[in-house]
Amino acid sequence: MQPSGPSEVPAETVRVARAAFPKGSLAIRVRDELGPLFSDEEFADLFPARGKPAWSPGRLALVLVLQFVEGLTDRQAAEAVRARIDFKYALGLELSDPGFDFSVLSEFRDRLVEADAGLRVLDGILAAAGEKGLLKTAGRARTDSTHVLTAARDVVWLERVAETLRSALNTLAQAAPDWLAEVAEPDWFKRYAARAEDSRFPKARTQRDEMGLRIGRDGTRLLQAVWSRTAPQELGTLPQVEHLRQMWVQNFHQVEGEVRRRDPKDRPPGAICLVNPYDPEVRNSVKRDVAWAGYKVHLTETCEPDIPNLITNVDTTDATVPDVSMTEVVHAQLARAGRLPTEHLVDAGYVDAHVLVSARRQYGIPLTGPVAAAISHQAAAGDGFTADDFTIDWEAEQVTCPGGKTTTCWGPDRSPEGTPVIRVRFAGGLCRPCAVRERCTTSKLGRRLTLRPRQEHEALRQARAEQDTDTWKTRYNTHAGVEGTISQGINRCGLRRSRYLGLAKTSLQHQLTGAAINLVRIDAHLTGTPRARTRTSHFAALSPAEPKPGGAEKGLPPN
Ligand code: SF4
Repeated sequence: MQPSGPSEVPAETVRVARAAFPKGSLAIRVRDELGPLFSDEEFADLFPARGKPAWSPGRLALVLVLQFVEGLTDRQAAEAVRARIDFKYALGLELSDPGFDFSVLSEFRDRLVEADAGLRVLDGILAAAGEKGLLKTAGRARTDSTHVLTAARDVVWLERVAETLRSALNTLAQAAPDWLAEVAEPDWFKRYAARAEDSRFPKARTQRDEMGLRIGRDGTRLLQAVWSRTAPQELGTLPQVEHLRQMWVQNFHQVEGEVRRRDPKDRPPGAICLVNPYDPEVRNSVKRDVAWAGYKVHLTETCEPDIPNLITNVDTTDATVPDVSMTEVVHAQLARAGRLPTEHLVDAGYVDAHVLVSARRQYGIPLTGPVAAAISHQAAAGDGFTADDFTIDWEAEQVTCPGGKTTTCWGPDRSPEGTPVIRVRFAGGLCRPCAVRERCTTSKLGRRLTLRPRQEHEALRQARAEQDTDTWKTRYNTHAGVEGTISQGINRCGLRRSRYLGLAKTSLQHQLTGAAINLVRIDAHLTGTPRARTRTSHFAALSPAEPKPGGAEKGLPPN
């Protein structure tokens, strides 16, 4: 690859584009406002220094983003580069430029994935926006997540194991054809030569069970052969063979030398449970009433009036990773990129006592999101005494209860999840004669309290007190706008379903989606398109709780 610096738009391309698009188009306006956006040097390390000259990677990066702006396939994007004047203008190409073959886009994506360079595309747009004063990182930011369905089709259990075995056989047939021809049993060619489909499996339960066991036995025999002394050593390291091994460990076991299917209760936890033969990184998950197989994406965006709300961070995880595990990750990434906000608005799922403290201590930013109410039978009873009703002297390590009794029975411990806690106990002798005991404890052994470390306890207490105030509610209203961002990603860029197999490629898809949404918003800002507001039905508008026009922002971003 021979990097070339950012080029001017050729004069003839400018002339024809201005004539054809007197009012401009997104691609033209963005080029005029932000310039070429990407240089070849930014992606030079993705290509070997020698070899066939590559199509300009800086331009390819812009094509990938425009592809997501318009929801184009690779063929359509390559065709747009060849045929559309506004694409040629944005890319700085001569009108006679023939573009490239559509397969170049897939190769370039592979290079971005291999070098983990997808964020460079998002960063390039944010840097250009920052230079034009369209990005204000030192303000508020908001984050939310949504589920992403896998690109791989859903399969029933029989297909899952049969297709995993077939995929391993195909890989082995390529890697060691002579060895496999000796090892494979004659029936395997009949059973696994063609794709397994549920419609071809028997309907009766007993026959399906028998077929499952037969597949289990075949897979076990293949794995034993792969790890036998006569097999080439490298076969065990092939990803499809490792996938087969894990799938078999999770689905079958041997009882007295016989292969048996594992009981579903004996399967591993969701975070490591393989559920798809085509994409080993897909996981099943459930959030509220949504169950899905795939991934999860976390979007962080700025939320300041008068400038576009731009996506400043994108993270993709497997579907089982809880939101709260990502709060510190998002902060670390924003800090690395120099885009830490002064306040971070998040959904309830991102908040717990630990991250409330770490956000302030490590990054000096307040984390604003609803914290869960205290969970105890006293809290559920309404007038019962919760931990917040006790006075804690942290230095003296003693606690005074609402009944006026003080205990020093205080000891550090660990919660079942392994986090540090403090156990406090009021002796049964203190509590039994207490006049307000029925509001406090039913235990004859006295009241027990489990406290978090001091900073976390106080942060949680303060957050619970604040979130009941009108000031906090008004401030937090701004978080609702992130739902519009997710809608925009789904409707405009196909965020809901992964285009590609695997976490790394899905992650690149989301980084490009973030970049595309940013271009759409910058263009909306340039054309003065007002931010859409949350649609409210005529009936919902009658609700006394519905905010009146002119109230706090609860709107969708521009689209
Ligand atoms: S029950 Fe025990 S801990 Fe509770 S208020 Fe009475 S004396 Fe205090």
